[in-house]
Amino acid sequence: TQYVYRFGGGVSDGGAGDKNLLGGKGANLDGMASIGLPVPPGFTISTAMCTRYYEEGETFPDSVKGEVANGLIHIEGITGKTFGDAADPLLVSVRSGARVSMPGMMDTVLNLGLNDETVVGLAAVSGDDRFAWDSYRRFIQMYSDVVLELDHGRFEEALEIAKEDRGYSLDTELSAGDWQVLVAEYKAIVEELWGKPFPQDVHAQLWGAIGAVFGSWQSERAKVYRRLNDIPGDWGTAVNVQAMVFGNMGETSATGVAFTRDPSKGDNAYYGEFLINAQGEDVVAGIRTPQYLTRAAREAAGAKPASMEEAMPEVYAELARVFDLLERHYRDMQDIEFTVERGKLWMLQTRSGKRTAKAALKIAVDMANEGLITQEEAILRVDPQALDQLLHPTLDPSAVRDVLTKGLPASPGAASGIAVFDSDTAEKRAAAGESVILIRVETSPEDIHGMHAARGILTARGGMTSHAAVVARGMGRPCVSGAGGISINAREKIMRVGVREVREGDIVTIDGTTGEVMAGAVPTVQPELSGDFGTLMVWADAKRRLKVRTNAETPLDCRTAREFGAEGIGLCRTEHMFFEQSRITAVRQMILASDEAGRRAALAKLLPEQRSDFVEIFEVMAGLPCTIRLLDPPLHEFLPHEESEFAEVAAAAGLDVETLKRRAAELHEFNPMLGHRGCRLGVTYPEIYEIQARAIFEAAIEVAEKTGAAPVPEVMIPLVATKRELELMKAVVDAAAEAVFADKGRRIEYLVGTMIELPRAALMAGQIAEVGAFFSFGTNDLTQTTLGVSRDDAARFLTTYVEKGIYPKDPFVSLDVEGVGELIAIAAERGRATRPDIKLGICGEHGGDPASIAFCEATGLDYVSASPYRVPIARLAAAQAAL
Ligand code: PEP
Ligand code: MG
Repeated sequence: TQYVYRFGGGVSDGGAGDKNLLGGKGANLDGMASIGLPVPPGFTISTAMCTRYYEEGETFPDSVKGEVANGLIHIEGITGKTFGDAADPLLVSVRSGARVSMPGMMDTVLNLGLNDETVVGLAAVSGDDRFAWDSYRRFIQMYSDVVLELDHGRFEEALEIAKEDRGYSLDTELSAGDWQVLVAEYKAIVEELWGKPFPQDVHAQLWGAIGAVFGSWQSERAKVYRRLNDIPGDWGTAVNVQAMVFGNMGETSATGVAFTRDPSKGDNAYYGEFLINAQGEDVVAGIRTPQYLTRAAREAAGAKPASMEEAMPEVYAELARVFDLLERHYRDMQDIEFTVERGKLWMLQTRSGKRTAKAALKIAVDMANEGLITQEEAILRVDPQALDQLLHPTLDPSAVRDVLTKGLPASPGAASGIAVFDSDTAEKRAAAGESVILIRVETSPEDIHGMHAARGILTARGGMTSHAAVVARGMGRPCVSGAGGISINAREKIMRVGVREVREGDIVTIDGTTGEVMAGAVPTVQPELSGDFGTLMVWADAKRRLKVRTNAETPLDCRTAREFGAEGIGLCRTEHMFFEQSRITAVRQMILASDEAGRRAALAKLLPEQRSDFVEIFEVMAGLPCTIRLLDPPLHEFLPHEESEFAEVAAAAGLDVETLKRRAAELHEFNPMLGHRGCRLGVTYPEIYEIQARAIFEAAIEVAEKTGAAPVPEVMIPLVATKRELELMKAVVDAAAEAVFADKGRRIEYLVGTMIELPRAALMAGQIAEVGAFFSFGTNDLTQTTLGVSRDDAARFLTTYVEKGIYPKDPFVSLDVEGVGELIAIAAERGRATRPDIKLGICGEHGGDPASIAFCEATGLDYVSASPYRVPIARLAAAQAAL
């Protein structure tokens, strides 16, 4: 087997450059060499050697020694220098390079090949004593640190003392003689700590470094990193040995880093920095201020020192040619390191450049338009989650932040405003023109008006599918939930974080993308939705099979969702309509009524209100499918909880306080999420569902007559476990429909279906499909009931669960494909067996999560439904899943 692959000087043994065999760095060096770019010659010892090294008790076979010797001959032939030659020594760098870049492993040794003799030769050929001795001391320091693993503090200490003794403050003040003295001290430190003199045999140096790279693959740090990032232990690392080139050989030498396009805005313009007479680490270390690459960038910044384009026009032109070649070869924006040694350009590294969401979008669309990549590739190049950054305001990255604590990033975007601790005040102060952040222990449906009025929402409790999180996402309000570090005293209107206090009226800032909570105002940057966004969405829509609907219940949210491309409503939670101030009294009268007649009287007041809601929604949705869910939450959620509210509510409902309290106590449940909710309400009080169904059908007919386009309502029954429940509820809905049709003298089409959000429903889907025309997977409740984990309380321990690898991600954010996914697959299969044309969708929060969407595509669902601001994410993720 071949283990050593040469590159440079017209040779490229690795051919196309195989990342698995050569590691990322090796493959890219090989790739650059193969297209004729100026790469310092070298060779890569493959990852297969790493595997064999461990199989054979950390030894090297003789054959590889021969291959390495040939590799050195390759480098010597091209450079005209000889390894270990006292007159004109070849120096090399040794670097590790796994398939993916991996902190935790040995990284780099530079200037290998220097010893007491070759340093003299280097000084002679370079004509620069200081450079030679400085290089030697750097080499001893680096080799001792990364290969010998000696305490690097001792070397730094020695350098500091040397400077102090001579009254210097900068390294650059040290002369050749000073460095020479220091080299002697360094060697003494090595001998003291290591027990042996610093290796003078250059081949021993080389094999020491190669062994250290392979050894570092199994270091504790590397193992931990692999575990955290799911990197298999048997991949191994490669070793790259390459001729050194120097950017610090005077004024015609330089070193720099560059991107082939702007990584922050995405513009098609070179972007980077360089330093004359410097080594790579000097640019990164920030000791000297780097200069601009292009004249345009220098002028735009109003900077004085000449750009590379002006200072070294010929080398710059060569670099620009290389950038174009690289982009054409790799078909992506590249992040590059280069060095100029006495007027000659060398490429040291290239890789796909990291970029902001905005740049990712622009670069993908531009490259497709330039014909560099296909539209499919452009679709795959943009991370759907990153679109969040583009749709919401973000914190100004240059602003100072006084971070108080961190909670869950429940709904993206950033917002600043005055702290307010109850929804009524939030509404009042917002109406007076103030920006408000609503802070609650947790929110309930009664907070809807406050949440709507607020710029952002912060809660101390509640997970990613808590009420606050779900509603905030729906409204597009930033939200941080489950910030366990804060304690809230709503009565005194104070929030405490450790010793810090925030009172009503104090300014706070939240970042729902990161979960950070900050004191004071932090400026935000408004998103700019460029034409690129629209272009990419059009391309994505052409490729996806899954339809994308929205979870929305107000005309405003529906409109937002349609602007973002929603193709229907997947979930309209009608209970949200019950909480409006004008209706809550009638709702409470309905709940508090002691008999059916009382309930019907209260419902009669609600009917026209609900109907007008549906009319507006049907109009906005203009003939697109609308799934409307009948009442779901436990009734006591609509009743007051605080002593102070009872009198007012009793008076409004026309009851005495005692009766109200008794009724509230009767409705109390120990486990309300598993209690009297969902279709259990419809089974016990059919008149509630009957009136809701009537409102839906009357509205649909009204819109049909007004606009000529008849909506097709999909009436959805929640929390069904058995076929019989659905049968009973369907009968109620059908009867209401017939009554309305008879009344209006007109029929419309409609469907009755169910949510699948209980494991029993998933298992009995074959039977349930005999009655239901569609299934919508309510994966919030299905996750809660399958895992037996409360969606409202899980935040307290789920982070620990994820840290310990029990679940790979928060299962309320990204579908537990193994468990909950299995139930969905079973239900889909059994449902289809009974009713081949059954419509299947998902309306839990997972409908906006890319990984969950990929699962929905694989399972063949018909649509996903996501909150309005997640609709674009879902469209892109659906396209990616289909490709
Ligand atoms: C669900 O359970 O997944 C669902 C969409 O319903 P809700 O979140 O309203 O319980
Ligand atoms: Mg549910």
